[in-house]
Amino acid sequence: MNVHEFQAKAILAKYGAPVPKGQVATSPEATAAAFRALGEARAVVKAQIHAGGRGKAGGVKLVSSAQQAQDFAASILGKPLVTHQTGPEGRVVRRVYVEAASEVARELYLAMLVDRSSEGVAIIASAAGGMDIEEVAAKTPDKILSEPIDVAIGVAGFQSRRLALALDLAGKTAAEFGTLLTTLYRAFMETDASLIEINPLVITADGSVVCLDAKMGFDDNALFRHPEIRELRDPGEEDPSESEAAKFNLSYVQLDGNIGCMVNGAGLAMATMDIIKFHGAEPANFLDIGGGADAEKVAAAFRILLADPRVKGVLINIFGGIMRCDVLAQGVVEAARQVKLNAPLVVRMEGTNVEQGREILKSSGLKITAASDMADAAQRIVALIGK
Ligand code: GDP
Ligand code: MN
Repeated sequence: MNVHEFQAKAILAKYGAPVPKGQVATSPEATAAAFRALGEARAVVKAQIHAGGRGKAGGVKLVSSAQQAQDFAASILGKPLVTHQTGPEGRVVRRVYVEAASEVARELYLAMLVDRSSEGVAIIASAAGGMDIEEVAAKTPDKILSEPIDVAIGVAGFQSRRLALALDLAGKTAAEFGTLLTTLYRAFMETDASLIEINPLVITADGSVVCLDAKMGFDDNALFRHPEIRELRDPGEEDPSESEAAKFNLSYVQLDGNIGCMVNGAGLAMATMDIIKFHGAEPANFLDIGGGADAEKVAAAFRILLADPRVKGVLINIFGGIMRCDVLAQGVVEAARQVKLNAPLVVRMEGTNVEQGREILKSSGLKITAASDMADAAQRIVALIGK
């Protein structure tokens, strides 16, 4: 689960991290009031959406009067902001964060994340902050520093010093940086975070360290331990089909392709996506309907798939073990009638009650292409969508 910048900053501030003081606002008038309440000569008004790249997209503005703050808020509130992370439809800005402006001398990148290769939390840092870190990593990987943290020790002094040296920080700045690393690590561990990203971490004109931006993600499986964090969930920022899928306990992840996949078992779902790619097309989603799905759940899954306008064809790949093929077929037929299925549908089905399942599909009057095995199924759906 992700949270907004202002929420991440509030959490980090509680642990003692240096963040500018600020206030959230949901209307232009409240933005002006927030500017006055800050009592600073200059403030930054920032669109609050769960996506980065706001600066380049016009979602961040330095203002020096309440009127300017209000006008900028009026120009972005209630409208979608399109950044390189939102996709072309953008995200509707429902709040802005008004915070005291900082005198920026340098912009660094700092993150903590769960690092599979070191089997622990790692610090990622770079002197090339403020910009698209993925691009830095792709073009100049040597500019990215990484320090795995030993879980038994925490952030060691030599690690802070090594990073500070590599980032060209000295004196008071290096000391503040070291303290920040310890603070962020504590926040990371105690909140069961999966990511803390500060981009940029700035060095101000007077050599102080300030978290100018903050992004935090949390381990969904640990949220039960943090009801106060779970409350920060913003359904407006979630993919509607993913929220709908969560209601039915389906594991569904939307992807960029155009072949909708309905599969049981995560392994088979992965293999199905692979084989679609192998035959030259792209899956529109990952969907595992699980072992014991009933017809209602199957129908929900099918509706969610077809609600995606990019889906040009559907591949159903089911191995009926606990799942019965006749139940699956019933769910598919029900959902196909509800949504008036137009897209080509290829079904590969094996296992318990497969004959009954095939019979239900055959007598449904739906246009269904039966496939003999996975490779056959993938080839057929790729051919049917014509690419
Ligand atoms: P993002 O583009 O969504 O990652 O939003 P950021 O919070 O990183 O803001 C984008 C950029 O705005 C930063 O990289 C800074 O260059 C600039 N910015 C944000 N706050 C301030 C500030 O207080 N002072 C100055 N000078 N620049 C700021
Ligand atoms: Mn940023």
